Amino acid sequence: MTIYSHSRLASFEKCPKQFEYRYIQELPAEREGIEAFMGKRVHEVLERLYEFAGQGMIPSLPQVIFRYHAFWDEHYDDKRVQVVRKGTPVSHYRNLGVRCLEYYYRRYHPFDQDETLGVEEEVKFDLDGNGDYAMRGVIDRIVRGEDGAIEIHDYKTGRYMPSQKELNNDRQLALYQLGLRDQYGHDSEYRLVWHYLQRHEFRTSTRSNDQLDALREQTIGVINEIEAASAYPVQRNRLCDWCEYKDRCHAEHP
Ligand code: SF4
Repeated sequence: MTIYSHSRLASFEKCPKQFEYRYIQELPAEREGIEAFMGKRVHEVLERLYEFAGQGMIPSLPQVIFRYHAFWDEHYDDKRVQVVRKGTPVSHYRNLGVRCLEYYYRRYHPFDQDETLGVEEEVKFDLDGNGDYAMRGVIDRIVRGEDGAIEIHDYKTGRYMPSQKELNNDRQLALYQLGLRDQYGHDSEYRLVWHYLQRHEFRTSTRSNDQLDALREQTIGVINEIEAASAYPVQRNRLCDWCEYKDRCHAEHP
């Protein structure tokens, strides 16, 4: 049985052809945009930071930045990682990651404002209670806030920051809330928290049980649509330049 994720649903909605390459044909990614590469390294460093902080060993900011550069050098492959915005040097993105981490570190040091319940935590759940609509996701950080609310934190390293209205309708973290309710209680208070590291800002949103029920129905509808699909048409969009299959796609569908 297929296990769905927010990324899997989003890929189908954005471009069925990309969905086919990625999830039906399971073609390996041919390239990776440098923005995503940098975001992964920042996530890895923040994961490690909270693991150390949880053991009472808070690394210094220079140690955090040193670790970021070490992860970058370990993973960087100039044949695979691509700078889409031509003329922008790789160092620009590398430094952007440094600034994201510096901001976060200075704002939240000594990382004791709340209780970390999990970092990079996998959550598995099903939407209908019968196991027919299985889903999974990975939460950047699960937190018990000062007021006792369970918070679902997500780090964003891109420049774009959605409006509050868009965040109030965001699917990804709301799905994670659905997934956490069995563990942390259906009547507990939850908060969705996005950290826009490049913008030095964070945003929050909440969902009522009625909103979550509606989300569950909508998501089941999307999964039904995907399961019924027999063709995966090309749907060009503003993110094509960052698509890992762009070269193949443009060759097959000029
Ligand atoms: S390059 Fe664009 S149209 Fe082609 S598969 Fe990727 S997202 Fe779809």
